[in-house]
Amino acid sequence: MTEEITTPAGRTEPLIARYRGLICDLDGVVYRGATAVPHAVETVARLRADGVPVVFATNNASRPPETVGDHLRGIGLPPGGWSVVNSSQAAAAHLAQRLVQGARVYAVGGPGVAHALTEAGLTPVRVADLDDAPVEAVVQGLGTDITWTELAAVGRVVEGGAAWVATNLDLTLPTPYGKAPGNGALVALVQTATSAEPHVVGKPQPALFDLARSRLGSAPEDTLVCGDLLHTDIEGANAAGLDSLFVLSGSSRLRDLALAERPLRPTYVAADLGGLLAPGPAVPAWPAAHLLQLGPGGVPRVPRDGHPGVGHGSGNGFGDGALLQAVVATAWAARDEGRPLAEDAAAWQDVERRLGIAAPP
Ligand SMILES: [Mg+2]
Repeated sequence: MTEEITTPAGRTEPLIARYRGLICDLDGVVYRGATAVPHAVETVARLRADGVPVVFATNNASRPPETVGDHLRGIGLPPGGWSVVNSSQAAAAHLAQRLVQGARVYAVGGPGVAHALTEAGLTPVRVADLDDAPVEAVVQGLGTDITWTELAAVGRVVEGGAAWVATNLDLTLPTPYGKAPGNGALVALVQTATSAEPHVVGKPQPALFDLARSRLGSAPEDTLVCGDLLHTDIEGANAAGLDSLFVLSGSSRLRDLALAERPLRPTYVAADLGGLLAPGPAVPAWPAAHLLQLGPGGVPRVPRDGHPGVGHGSGNGFGDGALLQAVVATAWAARDEGRPLAEDAAAWQDVERRLGIAAPP
């Protein structure tokens, strides 16, 4: 058999040309800590030049959008053509639609929480001021200085009848030292002492995507979501009816993607954000004739590096990623047909190496 892999349907325009706006995740897509992810800065600069607006949407509620904007400019993103929304703003927008102007809301989390409430015309209340007058609601978002006293007070005011809004339920937070407890872990801690359930606005729930799309002014079918986490970015995009690009520059690996069930599968896959500028076909529509063979080890057989038609280094210099898409399409077809796929991480890491995809440090 021939091992030549070409992009099906002969598409040549960049993937992003099919959309009028991009909702883009940050951590693992644009930066990792203080460091820019490869190709991210130049890709966003190209979108800006091409007039495609970008809204960066982050579940991290702790920092105000202006602070995140400073971070983005600090890694080299040119100003203009993009803005930032966070889950604190989605929480504040949710409450502003339901409470009167100036209503008192208990703010738990970093500065981003109180900032968003003030911006939405509500009055953020700190734990020390809870006794002054009742609060109508609580917004609980991530903060690194949250105390037991603040968490205990969340349970108390919620049991007293205040509405409880959680910015997101991410259980872990990536740090330079590994995983740390995320907002979802602190929400769960409060839940152990109450019988209440919070309303959640962050990804994968639709409120943050709705807020981002209202900034873009684009219809759902004209909006693309890009992210590195299947259970937040991609599941949320699917639930909101938005197409999505999954990138391997963050926390999830090729193994996670290959074994993903349908609600977690993205429309497109790429090594990093540079995939937006390559002619990416939708993975679920990948024609059977272009699928790879499944090897006896339960992973797709990858042709040697530099094989004609694979497209590494062609066109825009990012490679067209066709072989990665073929690998994923092959895995999903095998999974749907009940054929056994490898589950051990090492087998898929080997495929990543063959594809030239570097695991993040
Ligand atoms: Mg991320």
